[in-house]
Amino acid sequence: MKGLASDGGLFIPEEVPSLPQGWESWADISFEELAFNIMSLFVSPEEVPADDLKDIIKRSYSTFDHPERTPLVELDPKQNLYLLELWHGPTRAFKDVALQFLGNLFEYFLKRENEGKVGKDRHHLTVVGATSGDTGSAAIYGLRNKKDTSVFILFPNGKVSPIQEKQMTTVLDANVHNLTVEGSFDDCQDIVKALFADPDINSTHSLGAVNSINWARILAQITYYFYSYFSLTKSANYNKDKKVNVVVPSGNFGDILAGYFAKRLGLPVEKLVIATNENDILDRFFRSGGHYTKKALNTTDEGVKETHSPAMDILVSSNFERLLWFLAFQTDRANAVSERRQHACENVTTWLNDLKSKGGFQVPPAVLEAAMADFSSHRVSNDETIATIRSVYKTCFPNNGPSSSKSTKTGGYIVDPHTAVGVAASQRSIQEHPDSYHISLSTAHPAKFAGSVDLALRSEDGYVFDEILPKEFIGLMERESRVTPVPAGAGWEGVREIVKAEVEQELQGQR
Ligand SMILES: *Cc1c(COP(=O)(O)O)cnc(C)c1O
Repeated sequence: MKGLASDGGLFIPEEVPSLPQGWESWADISFEELAFNIMSLFVSPEEVPADDLKDIIKRSYSTFDHPERTPLVELDPKQNLYLLELWHGPTRAFKDVALQFLGNLFEYFLKRENEGKVGKDRHHLTVVGATSGDTGSAAIYGLRNKKDTSVFILFPNGKVSPIQEKQMTTVLDANVHNLTVEGSFDDCQDIVKALFADPDINSTHSLGAVNSINWARILAQITYYFYSYFSLTKSANYNKDKKVNVVVPSGNFGDILAGYFAKRLGLPVEKLVIATNENDILDRFFRSGGHYTKKALNTTDEGVKETHSPAMDILVSSNFERLLWFLAFQTDRANAVSERRQHACENVTTWLNDLKSKGGFQVPPAVLEAAMADFSSHRVSNDETIATIRSVYKTCFPNNGPSSSKSTKTGGYIVDPHTAVGVAASQRSIQEHPDSYHISLSTAHPAKFAGSVDLALRSEDGYVFDEILPKEFIGLMERESRVTPVPAGAGWEGVREIVKAEVEQELQGQR
């Protein structure tokens, strides 16, 4: 349930398990069964009995509107380019895949702990998260109306898309609390981190994390890497001699880290391709010989750029720390596993401290080499993002199965700006590897980012935005909403007091 360890580091599995013999037969099972098989490699039945885990998984994906949960679409057969639609959950972004599961997992643990307890003896979880848009709504939909849980979502006032804001603030359940902060997403994240580190609130409240620093989110995302691979291998034109690459629009590195675990488990993926927008710390790492720096070298640029893909507007990618640990472990020269673990911890600590104090660090050549064995990267500009939305609409007419993201008039496929970053990166990767398959992850429904999609398509023939609007978005802007503004200058201590007061009020309402 906890995001950060008490020393400020992130939790990782002690060991990456291997796939069992015969895992290829998983090609024929459902998304839910696949999720169970994969999660069972990491979660022991003593911790969560098999039937309970199956039930949690089943409930988590029953809220998805597609029978396949994450269907694979053949976007451009000539280029062997496929799109994995990850937005069939309740809030229309890929984060539902993890957060529907996480909400039910939290509920499960709390129920077990509170068995037979009443009133003040019941354990109460206070979830706090920061969002630039998608995590917040997905977390709220995962936790709304859950017993013994309050959820607080901090977002920067005026900096999330209007639809995203309404998706959060129109959920009026008593346990849902939206707070607006005067500042940026990074300010919100800093407040959340300060709360997790604060002995005062931790002595009275038990805090839970929903940001992608929570390991369970990464775990839940591993499933769709396998699912998309199996979907591809079952498709009519599949050629087993061709390699498979997966392209991931990346911000905090949580999504693609799940791909890394899938690969480490044994999924035969050639390269995991990182697609970044103009906030390109990950791309610069690969292109600069292993420098991980907040600022590009030789520039005066500072801070986060606002782009058409706001869910990827980050200065540093929190989950990269986890990859670095595994790379440091893998490349360490010591013989004993315990010693290599120790060294990896020390190296990561030094690097992360340098990131804080000096703005960056450089990894040794062996670590960069190990990273390049599994990953490649491409950076996509704002203009390219818009141009890609337009060119996909004009040239891609996928015909395998229905999709709510196709124009009914022209049949053209509409991608959201985050997905467009992935598609643009895919096209560059295809130039380098024309004989491979590319599966590009589609991380959000285009209706969530109406402004950018409109900018790209408004002068195109036959384009009518309302046509693709999912039914739950209709009338959303007019619905009643509730939000608590955090006064400017209140700081994280101010937020702490708001959290305490609102939890108290909520509990009184129940008594
Ligand atoms: C969160 C998000 C991303 C980035 O995912 P990370 O796990 O942070 O790398 C990309 N696209 C959309 C639509 C998102 O909501």
